Amino acid sequence: METNLFESVKENICTCATGPKVTPNLEAVLKMPMKEIHVSLPVRMDDGSIRTFQGFRIQYNNARGPAKGGIRFHPEETADTIRGLAAIMTFKCALHELPLGGAKGGVVCNPKSMSNGELERLSRAYIQALGCSIGPDRDIPAPDVYTDEQTMGWMIDEYCRGTGSVHFGAITGKPLSLGGSEGRHDSTARGGWYCIREAAKETGIGMEMRETSYSAESKPERGEKAPSAAIQGFGNVGYNAALIGKEIAGCRIIAVSDSSGGVYSEEGLEIAEVMRHKKETGSVINFPGTENIDNSQLLELDVDVLIPAALENAITEENADAVSAKILAEFANGPTAPGAEMILDEKGIHIIPDILCNGGGVIVSYFEMVQNLNMDHWSEDYIYRRLDEKMTRAYHKVLEFSKKNSISMRTAAYTIALEKIVEAMTARGWV
Ligand code: NAD
Repeated sequence: METNLFESVKENICTCATGPKVTPNLEAVLKMPMKEIHVSLPVRMDDGSIRTFQGFRIQYNNARGPAKGGIRFHPEETADTIRGLAAIMTFKCALHELPLGGAKGGVVCNPKSMSNGELERLSRAYIQALGCSIGPDRDIPAPDVYTDEQTMGWMIDEYCRGTGSVHFGAITGKPLSLGGSEGRHDSTARGGWYCIREAAKETGIGMEMRETSYSAESKPERGEKAPSAAIQGFGNVGYNAALIGKEIAGCRIIAVSDSSGGVYSEEGLEIAEVMRHKKETGSVINFPGTENIDNSQLLELDVDVLIPAALENAITEENADAVSAKILAEFANGPTAPGAEMILDEKGIHIIPDILCNGGGVIVSYFEMVQNLNMDHWSEDYIYRRLDEKMTRAYHKVLEFSKKNSISMRTAAYTIALEKIVEAMTARGWV
């Protein structure tokens, strides 16, 4: 049965054992997003024909500040997934103490079969259709699956044309030349590794990630017994996770995968070479000197750290029992279906839940907004230090809360976040 991401997130909210009780009034506010925009986007294709694409922007809750969240271009996008992702963003921003609410956007399209020109016209049409619903004090989009810096470049340009302003703080994840931030490109992956570093101490995995290693130049010495990691997804998050895991945390990245399948090498992969191969051939598979594996085999590898960095519901009740990692670091949003969680918990796997683990992206997006609003530009080193501080603090807060109340890391993270959202909603007189 298909797992509905929005229903899964609502289940997570209801399991908040301690802290604010989910009263009927609270449930009434949280059961649906505050605002949903569904648009049809007619776009001229390169052959002269017009195709109409479906798009969504969903703002789940803005009690704590303007809504924030990425935009996906994916052929199987649904409003329910976007609703779930918008709710996840709301809880993620609250957990990491950012003055932001949560939103998400999506367009049903297959970017792999579209030209650059077609993607540009689609990106511009999407921003035109959203009109005044977005902006630095309303809702601030960013990249997500199958969108990137270039997509954000077109979108901020269209926003500026539409509003007659040059307000770069309306969109984050932009190119540096348009007010983008240093460190945004690998912030999600880097923030996730700061959590893994702390989780390694907790679980007794010897990891050499240096406290001071803020740049890839300072590499740890890697022994034969370097911890192992496997990564599902080799896009923005997965590729940077592999690079940072190898170069800064000193891990052997023994497997990576994309939508076509994966590759495995017990000695560890040369990540930059794997990326070169992917750029040449379109996939990581058949990388010389490695064994091809499929995505389910990757999830079952006996590794210290397993990183799902692709799509939601990768780990389900069907395959959870076969997962044998010590740490499951959720770089993707919603990679673990609710039924799988109990099985993983029983196996003693230390889960770093998505709203905690992948918060680095929105944290540096927030830094980008602050820089834009102040017409400022911060150094990469400063950004990584602040990111490290925020991720490390959030990890320990969740860990302590989970231990103190004998609840899972996910329930602890949701409970801490819910408390902050309820506090703001109460102060505004909503509940
Ligand atoms: P991306 O488009 O850059 O990469 C997605 C990758 O997943 C690609 O390598 C693709 O081939 C692979 N993939 C797609 N379907 C797959 C499948 N069925 N099995 C295995 N691999 C598959 O996207 P991204 O920005 O790296 O996002 C990845 C995940 O991280 C998503 O869940 C996203 O919501 C989450 N996330 C991203 C950011 C960010 O800053 N980009 C921030 C927080 C969370």
